[in-house]
Amino acid sequence: MGKGPVVINASKTGSNKTFGLSGAGTLTYVSKGDLGKGLFARRKIRAGTMICRFSGPMISFAEAASKGEKECYPLQIDDNKYIDLDPPGCFANHSCEPNAGIRADLELVALTDIPAGTEIRYDYSTTMDEDYFTMPCRCGSESCRGKVEDFKLLPPSASKRYLTLGIVMSFIVRKYNVKP
Ligand SMILES: [Zn+2]
Repeated sequence: MGKGPVVINASKTGSNKTFGLSGAGTLTYVSKGDLGKGLFARRKIRAGTMICRFSGPMISFAEAASKGEKECYPLQIDDNKYIDLDPPGCFANHSCEPNAGIRADLELVALTDIPAGTEIRYDYSTTMDEDYFTMPCRCGSESCRGKVEDFKLLPPSASKRYLTLGIVMSFIVRKYNVKP
């Protein structure tokens, strides 16, 4: 799931349903961080606060894969269903020790108090079940797993924690009938 910079074409499939507005302007800004462009807290964000709501056109796996990392920021929301994320949500980078997570499939919420100026990151593995994409992880956290891959490949301690926090995509929770 390439979430590097640059968005080129929007989906031309006619399936460009947009999921609401991102409405994140007051809480976040986009700036350069350790991993390229990232999403940062404009002011202190308290734990539990919804930071932004992801939005963008819906695309298929084939469309996401064919666009590649430079043009597309796919967020997996179901088998063969992705949202090609609009700014600013598309700039949220991955961390193996995230300070944010996705609730209700589209809402990025703070898991801890996030000081102003801190980069906001979530764990991409909480959204992934595709047997396709992996990437080396350079998140720099102490518990870095070294690569980003499907939820089912997470260490049990991590998957259990994310399930308890309610920040795993619902299609994954349904598919594996997993309980915290
Ligand atoms: Zn990592």
